[in-house]
Amino acid sequence: TDIQELLLSRIRDVPDHPKPGVVFKDITPLLADPAAFAALTEALAEISLRHGATRVVGLEARGFILAAPVAIRAGLGFVPVRKAGKLPGATLRQAYDLEYGTAEIEVHAEDLTPEDRVMVIDDVLATGGTAAASLELVRRAGAQVAGVAVLMELGFLDGRAKLTQELGGAPLEAL
Ligand code: 5GP
Repeated sequence: TDIQELLLSRIRDVPDHPKPGVVFKDITPLLADPAAFAALTEALAEISLRHGATRVVGLEARGFILAAPVAIRAGLGFVPVRKAGKLPGATLRQAYDLEYGTAEIEVHAEDLTPEDRVMVIDDVLATGGTAAASLELVRRAGAQVAGVAVLMELGFLDGRAKLTQELGGAPLEAL
C-alpha cells in the first residue's frame, strides 16, 4: 500500500551496526518525518483497537517512542516494559536469552490486571526474544494478550515462530 511504501522509504539500512555483519534497520528518519510518524501511529492505533486492546505496552527503548502516541491516539493506557532495575515499584521480572548471555525485563505488577487486554508494540521484531518475554510478563500479570504489533518484522530470523506459543492464537501484525 501507499502507507507501507512511505514507511519503508523512511527506514535506513545501516551496515555493520551494532557489529560487523548486521544490517541495522534505523527508524530515526521515519520519526523525523511528521507524515510518516503520524501514519505509523495511526496504523498501530487502528490495529490495537481492532483487536480490542485496553492497554498498549511499549518495549524499551524504541517501543516507547511508538507506543506512547499510539496510546493517546487510541485512547488507551500506556504501560512501559523496561530493562531490569529501572522501575521503582513492585515488578514482575522475566529473563530471556540473547545471542550471548541473558537479559531481563520488568513491568510494574499493578499496571496490568486480569481485566486488561494488552497490545505489545515495538519497532522491529528480530529473533522474537524480547516480544516473547513481554508476552510472558503479560500472562504472568494475569492480563489477556490482544497481540503484538510492530513496524517491521525481519522474516529471515523467524521471530514469528518463536512467538507462536506465547501468542496463544492472538495476532502478530507487522506493517
Ligand atoms: P529480538 O528480541 O526480536 O531479537 O530483538 C528485538 C529488539 O531489538 C527490539 O526491541 C528492537 O528494537 C531491537 N532490534 C533488533 N534489531 C533491530 C534493528 O535492525 N533495528 C531496530 N531499530 N531495532 C532492532
